[in-house]
Amino acid sequence: MKLLEYEGKEIFGRYGIPLQKRCGVIRLGDSTDKLVLDGPGPWVVKAQVLAGGRGKAGGVKLAKTPTEARELALKMLGMKMVTHQTQGKALIVEEVLVDEACDIKREIYISVVLDRKGSTPTIIASAEGGMSIEELAQSHPEKIIKLPVDVEAGLLDFQARQLAFDLNIPQKNFREFTAFACRLVRAFIEEDASLVEVNPLVITGDDRLIALDSKIVTDDNALFRHKDLAAKPDHEATEIEKEAKEIGINYIGLDGDIGCMVNGAGLAMATLDTVKMAGGDAANFLDVGGGANVDQITRAFQIILKDSKVKAVLVNIFGGIMKCDNIASGVVEASKKVKINIPLIVRLEGTNVKEGREILAKSGLKLEQASSLWEAAQKAVAAAK
Ligand code: GDP
Ligand code: MN
Repeated sequence: MKLLEYEGKEIFGRYGIPLQKRCGVIRLGDSTDKLVLDGPGPWVVKAQVLAGGRGKAGGVKLAKTPTEARELALKMLGMKMVTHQTQGKALIVEEVLVDEACDIKREIYISVVLDRKGSTPTIIASAEGGMSIEELAQSHPEKIIKLPVDVEAGLLDFQARQLAFDLNIPQKNFREFTAFACRLVRAFIEEDASLVEVNPLVITGDDRLIALDSKIVTDDNALFRHKDLAAKPDHEATEIEKEAKEIGINYIGLDGDIGCMVNGAGLAMATLDTVKMAGGDAANFLDVGGGANVDQITRAFQIILKDSKVKAVLVNIFGGIMKCDNIASGVVEASKKVKINIPLIVRLEGTNVKEGREILAKSGLKLEQASSLWEAAQKAVAAAK
């Protein structure tokens, strides 16, 4: 799950990472009265969207007066933002963060990522921050520092000092920096993040070290350990994905037109591949879970059919824990409750498959059965066309 800048900064705050003073966050439709602009200024008004490069796209503005800050915030809300990270899509600005601005002497890049190859958290840093790290990695790979961190021990003091030397951190900020780096790594590990990025980390005109921006990506598989994160809305999830999550179905929307209902994540992936091989594209990844009962099958149909792109539904269920006759009854019951007006292809395999197929055949439902996944995929692709 990706967090917005202000959400990331709330986490940073808990780890004692130095930040600018926050004046408030307002949502589309809110009044700007919520902003506390009692300092001397200036202020920085920042669009809260899940993409970097906001600076260049008009999503980061400085304001000299409280009135200007309010005006900028209102203007930014509802704005469509396209940055180099949004893949041509426009993101609507629904929230705006206002912080007290600082003046910047130096910008540094630092992040902690999960190095999957090395199975370890790794610090990526560069003395040249602010700019796109991807570009720097292309043009000047030697300017990028990589430092693997032991996940049990965290960042050791000597590593933090070495990093400070490598980044040319001035004497004045040395201790501040090493403490910051250790805290950043601790945040990465304790929050079960897959990325924690500060771009830029700045040294201000009055020699303070401040995390000016935040990007945090957390690992959904660890959400059960983080009640606070689990309670947050997933900003990237579509409405259908959010609903599926609420009822406990694993669902990921895709771009194709064949709705897939499958039990088990591995079988779901195999189904997606097979649909692709048959010349089609799946509209979703959906895993109804191990004990696919009537209720869950009904809900899964409802979720699949909410997607207007879906032109055919492919049910691919293996009766292992559940028996095929029970599943077939489930499909029959569910399709009575949910009106399915598009072709339905069912492939059952496993325990009591003969009985299951008979139940489907006798149900009077308009559906096609397939005796193999390959046949089912081909039928679904043909039906969707
Ligand atoms: P991003 O472009 O989406 O990564 O947004 P950032 O939060 O990183 O801000 C982009 C750039 O705006 C920074 O690199 C700074 O140069 C500038 N900026 C952001 N906040 C401030 C601030 O408080 N004061 C000043 N002077 N510049 C800022
Ligand atoms: Mn940034």
